Amino acid sequence: MSEPIRDALGRPLESLRISVTDRCNLRCRYCMPEDEYVWLPRASILAFEEIARLVGVFAGVGVHKVRLTGGEPLLRHDLPTLVAMIARDARITDLAMTTNGLLLAKQATALRAAGLSRVTVSLDTLRPERMLAFAKSPRHADVLEGIAAARQVGFGRLKLNSVVIRGFNDDELVDLIEFGRAHDAEVRFIEYMDVGGATRWSMDQGVSQRDMLETLGRRYGAIQPLSDDSHSPAERFRLPDGTTFGIIASTTAPFCRSCDRSRVTADGTWLLCLYAERGTDLRDPLRRGATDDELAAILREGWQGRRDRGAEDRLGVAERGALYRLESLRADPHREMHTRGG
Ligand code: SAM
Ligand code: SF4
Ligand code: SF4
Repeated sequence: MSEPIRDALGRPLESLRISVTDRCNLRCRYCMPEDEYVWLPRASILAFEEIARLVGVFAGVGVHKVRLTGGEPLLRHDLPTLVAMIARDARITDLAMTTNGLLLAKQATALRAAGLSRVTVSLDTLRPERMLAFAKSPRHADVLEGIAAARQVGFGRLKLNSVVIRGFNDDELVDLIEFGRAHDAEVRFIEYMDVGGATRWSMDQGVSQRDMLETLGRRYGAIQPLSDDSHSPAERFRLPDGTTFGIIASTTAPFCRSCDRSRVTADGTWLLCLYAERGTDLRDPLRRGATDDELAAILREGWQGRRDRGAEDRLGVAERGALYRLESLRADPHREMHTRGG
């Protein structure tokens, strides 16, 4: 494995999130609350060969963890073929995907066979009527089927992501933990983040890590923090009965100092931070015939200059509100969470 490049703050580039599409079959209110969106032009979307080539270049500068995301990654036609192309690269030791689960039951076997090692399913509520109201979909049963299929086909331990929103699902923390326990999955509660796309964000709708721990502590007793992989965005905890869970506290206790991730959007825009206002176009050099060495030089130069600490910077904002107004998201859809992936 090659030594990873380090940014200006000493952080290694080890992990890559690839958004394979900006389209989604849900409309979660914390991510896609609007009725209409500006989509990336179809001709700009990278072909599988282009994505696999970029992954190879990233692997050449030290990346060994890849996560497929979106939009909804399973909307991308024939995703198992891309998974197989990436899995073939022995330098990628961890190939995962984050999905809303709606189409997972149909594709789990093929994804596993293609070499996908782990899956995270987003599950914010156990109540179908809440999903209908909050994500505009009546297909809660499909998500549960997707979760069951993921367990059956033998991925690594399943993770469930739940964004916790006050007045929506903050009364389901215990139910979600119990669901995770019953399905051999680890729940990760995520603080509601003021990322692009979250145009209705306000601090008071979020539930802090501290409040979540207090709620769970009241039900389960003393909660023990676990020391863990320092690059994981989730802090992990153990309940007295041994059940583990995670909290991603990006809003109140961000972890930028250990952030080893960057992102590539479906059209090949490279983002150094989830909050970065703009990215570097990798598609243009790729399609103009740049060599792998030339592409690697762009990555090296970009990462070595990186000082981004987006979520930590947000801590210092007085009267914190939504990151972008709708007009600036429409002006550049790369700022949307569903375009850059979670
Ligand atoms: N569509 C897939 C899904 O929902 O799992 C993958 C893409 S989605 C953008 C990735 C993750 O981002 C999801 O777990 C989602 O809950 C999270 N997310 C989206 N908007 C968020 C927000 N405003 N705050 C916190 N997490 C958010
Ligand atoms: Fe929800 Fe994921 Fe779709 Fe965003 S991209 S609307 S989080 S399912
Ligand atoms: Fe990394 Fe940016 Fe997220 Fe901080 S806000 S953890 S630097 S992606």
